[in-house]
Amino acid sequence: MPADALPGLGRASRLLRDARRAVALTGAGVSTPSGLPDFRTPGSGLWEHQDPMTVASLLAFRHNPQEFYARLQPLALGFLKAEPNPAHRALSRLESAGRLFGLITQNIDGLHQRAGSVNVVELHGNLRQATCVDCGAVRPSESFAEDFTRSGIIPRCPACGGYLKPNAILMGEQLPWQAIQTAMDWSRTCDLMLVVGSSLEITPAGQLPQLAVRSGARCIIINRLPTYMDERADVVLRRDVAEALPRLAEEVLDG
Ligand code: ZN
Repeated sequence: MPADALPGLGRASRLLRDARRAVALTGAGVSTPSGLPDFRTPGSGLWEHQDPMTVASLLAFRHNPQEFYARLQPLALGFLKAEPNPAHRALSRLESAGRLFGLITQNIDGLHQRAGSVNVVELHGNLRQATCVDCGAVRPSESFAEDFTRSGIIPRCPACGGYLKPNAILMGEQLPWQAIQTAMDWSRTCDLMLVVGSSLEITPAGQLPQLAVRSGARCIIINRLPTYMDERADVVLRRDVAEALPRLAEEVLDG
C-alpha cells in the first residue's frame, strides 16, 4: 500500500457519485485546520479553561453584557479573521457541481459560505450578525467586533439603543426552530449523509446521521476520532478533513 493510500476513498467516492440527494453534516473539526478551536477536544477544547455557562450563556449576557463582550470578543475576532480551508472549499465544489444538495453545520464561523457554499443550515446560529434584544433589528457584526476591541464600548442598536446580542446560539438559549426542522427534513429525505469533523456528541446534530440511516440513507464519516455512528456507517475515513475531503471531491469530480 502506498504511503498516501486512503483506505475507503474509492468506496466513498462511488457512494457519493451514485447519490442523488447527498447532504453533509459538519462540526468543529472542519474548521480546526483554519486555526479555530474545537469546543470539546480534550487538551485543546475551548471550554476546558472557561465555563461555558458563565461565559457564553444567555444569563451572562443579560446579567453583565460588558463582561460578556470583554470575554468573548477576542474569540469572536479570531472567528471573523479565520479563512476557509481546503475542506470548506471541497464541500463548496461538490455543491456547485451538483454532487451535494446542501450542508448542515454546527459551526458559527460562516466559513462554509465564505468558501462558496450556498445551501447551508446553521444549527447554532452565526457570528456574522447580531440582534437587538429590544427591537429585534438584525445588524452585521463585523464592524462592531473590531470597534469593541478598540473602544471597549458595548455594541448598541443604532435604531433604539438596545444591546446587540451575537446571533450565535448561547448556552441556555433555544436553537433556531426553522434550522432544526430543515436539518431533520434533509436528514429524512437524503440518500447519503456525509459527516465531516463532528464528534456527534451534541444534540440534535449528533442524532441526524442516525435519522438519515434509519430513513434508508448511506453514510460516510470523515473524522479523526471514532464516533458512535462508525459501526453503522458505510465508510469511515479516519483522516484529517483538510486532506481527505479534497481528495474525495477530486475523485468524485475528476476521477
Ligand atoms: Zn433596537
